[in-house]
Amino acid sequence: MKAILVLALLVLAGCGGLRIDTSQSSVAQSSRVQYIVLHYTSTDLPRSLELLTRGEVSAHYLIGAEPPAVYRLVDEQRRAWHAGDSEWQGRTWLNASTLGIELVNPGYEEDADGNRHWHPYPRAQIDVLIRLLKELVARHELPPGSIVGHSDIAPQRKVDPGPLFPWYRLAAEGLIAWPDDAQVGIRQRLFAAVGLPPPAWYQQRLATLGYRVPRHGELDEATLKVLAAFQMKYRPSRHDGVPDAETAALLQVLAPAAQVPGVEAPEAEEAM
Ligand SMILES: [Zn+2]
Repeated sequence: MKAILVLALLVLAGCGGLRIDTSQSSVAQSSRVQYIVLHYTSTDLPRSLELLTRGEVSAHYLIGAEPPAVYRLVDEQRRAWHAGDSEWQGRTWLNASTLGIELVNPGYEEDADGNRHWHPYPRAQIDVLIRLLKELVARHELPPGSIVGHSDIAPQRKVDPGPLFPWYRLAAEGLIAWPDDAQVGIRQRLFAAVGLPPPAWYQQRLATLGYRVPRHGELDEATLKVLAAFQMKYRPSRHDGVPDAETAALLQVLAPAAQVPGVEAPEAEEAM
């Protein structure tokens, strides 16, 4: 009888729920979101919706092409499964710390000679993306440089959002850093005159920017892919990964040697 009474009391306590006082709040807190990752879907809107709502991949937002309707498929407080094996600025497996945005865009078709023909992004789609990015950056208090492409965080296996994605438009809105043309021009002429730096130099600067890149000083296949990802973003007219004076100049302007190469300094919360 006594046991039943105890059980009944426990059940009652459970029904009532644990009382939590939420009248106090810590000042030492921030959003779990650290980066926003941009993708293209490689297919049309109906198929994109099906894949992202019924398949094994997802994104927080999906933006149609024409018209550029915005869908929210995953709550911003929860993880979407969009990044996969990924790394940026020393942080890995970025589903946990990112928001994913998918843009409806078919990507590319490859012709018989292996040339890729990329699909452009409608201007209105990018307008909508910029409005959304501004909201997200404000809501999660993200610093400049928090918006990356899937190709930045997984350069060995991903090329989206591709060379026709207009990163310069995001730069014009203050959403990402952009190298100064005049500075790039001066350094490009200098590199053209004195010769290109060794592979280790590119690797060091790519790592400074946030890329996961080999550091062995060899211009291997993996390094070429990271260089290609960098070129797709800042010099999309040629993105074969082959180093040249303009690529070196862009890297020098974006990642000055004064910065400590490699992983960012740990944040206060992580240092504790
Ligand atoms: Zn992607």
